Amino acid sequence: MPYVITDECIACGSCESECPVEAISEGDDKYVIDSDKCTDCGACMEVCPVEAIVSGA
Ligand code: SF4
Ligand code: SF4
Repeated sequence: MPYVITDECIACGSCESECPVEAISEGDDKYVIDSDKCTDCGACMEVCPVEAIVSGA
């Protein structure tokens, strides 16, 4: 399952540059992960300061 960004996201942007497949982009009020691109590597989760990124599994 791809990773997902919850409503806890404070839109800091730290995760965007960590994604090796550029699956993360800025949404309306939080960042979002493109589930078609995400390879479940977990790199983005490591850098999120508020633990807003979770495995969708
Ligand atoms: Fe990108 Fe990996 Fe995060 Fe998926 S888990 S959005 S591939 S950094
Ligand atoms: Fe949102 Fe966390 Fe990504 Fe920052 S690192 S934009 S708080 S999901």
